[in-house]
Amino acid sequence: MRRKRRVKIVATLGPASGNRETIEKLFRAGADVFRINMSHTNHARLAELVAMIRDTERAVGRPIGILADLQGPKLRLGSFAAGGYDLKAGESFTLDSDLAPGDATRVHLPHPEILSAVEPGHRLLVDDGKVRLRCVSKDGERAVHTVVEVAGRVSDRKGVSLPDTTIPIGAMTEKDRADLDAALKTGVDWIALSFVQRPEDLAEARKVTRNRVGLMAKIEKPQAIDRLAEIVELSDAVMVARGDLGVEMPVERVPGLQKQMTRACRRAGKPVVVATQMLESMISSPVPTRAEVSDVSIAVFEGADAIMLSAESAAGKYPVEAVAMMDSIAQEVEKDPTYRGIVAAQRAEPEATGADAISAAARQIGETLNLAAIVCFTMSGSTGLRIARERPFPPLIALSPDPDMARRLTLVWGLHSVISEDAHDVDDMVARATRIAFQEGFARPGQRIIISGGVPFGTPGSTNMLRIAFVGADPHGEF
Ligand code: PEP
Repeated sequence: MRRKRRVKIVATLGPASGNRETIEKLFRAGADVFRINMSHTNHARLAELVAMIRDTERAVGRPIGILADLQGPKLRLGSFAAGGYDLKAGESFTLDSDLAPGDATRVHLPHPEILSAVEPGHRLLVDDGKVRLRCVSKDGERAVHTVVEVAGRVSDRKGVSLPDTTIPIGAMTEKDRADLDAALKTGVDWIALSFVQRPEDLAEARKVTRNRVGLMAKIEKPQAIDRLAEIVELSDAVMVARGDLGVEMPVERVPGLQKQMTRACRRAGKPVVVATQMLESMISSPVPTRAEVSDVSIAVFEGADAIMLSAESAAGKYPVEAVAMMDSIAQEVEKDPTYRGIVAAQRAEPEATGADAISAAARQIGETLNLAAIVCFTMSGSTGLRIARERPFPPLIALSPDPDMARRLTLVWGLHSVISEDAHDVDDMVARATRIAFQEGFARPGQRIIISGGVPFGTPGSTNMLRIAFVGADPHGEF
């Protein structure tokens, strides 16, 4: 089965879709990667979902990516004696270390280190920014005294965002560490870290994952924007997490930041996922708004690797329809006569490496000769990523002997991932690549493809060869 688009679709699983039948329907409608949100998933359920996805993989005969999204240090208020209170503008309100239930003047904030990090002038945004407090004074680690700037209701366990404060804790809580461990055991392909603030957050997670999975940094804090280049460098992928980003930063800054992030990731050759509210109205409606269609199309025109559905596929009334809608928007955009030029305008120059020189040449030859496909042998995934970075016009097939890598690459722009043994010699490389290009529906007998490979065969990082090859009259031939 081949997709008729280059951008990939990530679909979040939840109560509306977390069953074997719907997972297959979502895949057939266009989902390339499934996201499991660990904020709402226990370990037994995680194992069930992974098993259902792997079962679907066997049924459809294609690698499928799984992304486990860790909750991260999401700060929450304690509870109130009356469940909640309406705060009025100009009133004083205190967050403190006292465990007693809150009232209209104070509530517990269960993180003493946060209380000491907040400084006078810093904003505290409650319930996705619906209520805005500003710190006026503090009492060491014991209390932060605020004035209410935007009135509203505060209630039990509501989330708190601190856009002005660098939080003195890493991106992984105890719960995240336990969830990460469970996710590694079930064999997911990607881990997303929430509320990343610094490059060290990635380094800390990588110590645990040791490259067994791809590490995705969710960019949703202003502190992460300030250190974006370093974070991109230490990540395997990035998510433009527009939900929390639009709480922590003025919402009107999100579109520009999305552009900056997609460009930074394309330059670095790291997959970038644009997420949140892409087809929000499809949670309850079978058709999206025109503005949502336009939002999805902008991400596709930017050359993002993937676009994501959250509640639309996890908890909405139309999960399969939402995926199918994303698929058809992406197909239409990619057929538009302006698409190639717009995506190519943001292409980054190759770096001075053999892999980049080969990738740029493969694209140029593939486009000049209008070849049926570019086929790359990629063990570590690196050649696949570098060729995808070129955003070439001919379709891309990535052959990897490692099923885990084939699954991880399902997130990457344009890569049609296939599990295949590495080539043994040049004849085998040509026979294998032409046969797979034919079998996967990319090339007919008589058409030509271009193949990138590396001698010595079977050695990661050895890509050093390009070969143009005809698909023969008998592409079924044995290797
Ligand atoms: C977001 O904030 O946009 C996001 C994707 O994260 P979550 O869904 O975990 O809040």
